[in-house]
Amino acid sequence: MTSRYQGIIHRYRQRLPVAPDGPVVTLGEGDTPLIELIHLPRRIGRDVRIFCKFEGLNPTGSFKDRGMTLAVTKALEAEARAIICASTGNTSAAAAAYAARAGIACFVLIPEGKIALGKLSQAMMHGAAVIQIRGNFDDGMRLVQEVAQDLPVTIVNSVNPYRLQGQKTASFEIIEALGGAPDYHALPVGNAGNITAHWIGYSEAAGKMTKACALCAGDCAYLAAPFADSRPVMLGYQAAGAAPFLRGAFVDHPDTVATAIRIGHPVSWEQAWTASKESGGWFAEVTDAEILEAQKLLAGTEGIFCEPASAASVAGLLKDLERNTIRPGATVVCTLTGHGLKDPDTAIAQSTPPVTVDAERKAIERIIRSHSES
Ligand SMILES: *Cc1c(COP(=O)(O)O)cnc(C)c1O
Repeated sequence: MTSRYQGIIHRYRQRLPVAPDGPVVTLGEGDTPLIELIHLPRRIGRDVRIFCKFEGLNPTGSFKDRGMTLAVTKALEAEARAIICASTGNTSAAAAAYAARAGIACFVLIPEGKIALGKLSQAMMHGAAVIQIRGNFDDGMRLVQEVAQDLPVTIVNSVNPYRLQGQKTASFEIIEALGGAPDYHALPVGNAGNITAHWIGYSEAAGKMTKACALCAGDCAYLAAPFADSRPVMLGYQAAGAAPFLRGAFVDHPDTVATAIRIGHPVSWEQAWTASKESGGWFAEVTDAEILEAQKLLAGTEGIFCEPASAASVAGLLKDLERNTIRPGATVVCTLTGHGLKDPDTAIAQSTPPVTVDAERKAIERIIRSHSES
């Protein structure tokens, strides 16, 4: 028996809708670190423990891999020859990689000019057919659903319930790492699949029903053998320019620097509302400036480089801590959904540019001295 980690399906097979011995399409996703922030709580002077679940350390650099291993494994089980998705970038990167691994075709629809460079390069390198549309994510999502009605392509967006089933495993890992569920769990919300998936995971772990689960028709087998005593309050953070959950209605022209959550018509609208309400949680919005500030703070003071959308979870938490809506002494987990390397342009644009000097010892010494003086 090998102890080599082999991805979330091997790890949590009994809690996932897969055949007991069928083939699995995996790249070793999951098992990501839960990193406690040490500087930030001190800096803001609050009695709170903050942990970041760094999903940027998945094989393609985002949490989408957890859902994709299951969606593509199930697509193969059903003998699909091609998958398709609309994407703000990370879904297409994951779909392209897992399709390559499975030996099937992959079509991705992305909004022209609104996808981070790293994500585009991934989809291209993995050999997906990359289709740029003159429209946004929501247009792409609508087109994918129309096309899949008539053509033999399996949708791997989070309307595919297997995506959420895979993504729920992040909650399992957090419970195992902390020895129980946290008091609060903060996530950036775009298409709203991930907050739904986490709530499903926490609910199953606690042996509690949730109406947020599309597969759960009342007698869920995964509610047996609970391993957590409680469920967290779910905090959903949206970019102010793309915040349908704050407006209480879809937004037609979403805009934010956090391209991964630049979504106005979230597919998991009802489920995410259910998750939020059942957990006693809420949605809140953060500005692009607050998102970028949190991203920089994490990178500069904690050594964690996440992409802008991911930083929305920390930016939102900071705001809620300021508003005193978080119980003192609480343990909070923030999901950092994707790696900062996904979007080098945004990172470089907000950082101090490098200095250029002649290749001389004196020049270097001058810089080091002026640093230690300041
Ligand atoms: C997909 C994604 C999100 C949003 O997740 P939803 O499930 O669509 O709400 C947030 N951050 C990153 C980096 C993503 O890739």
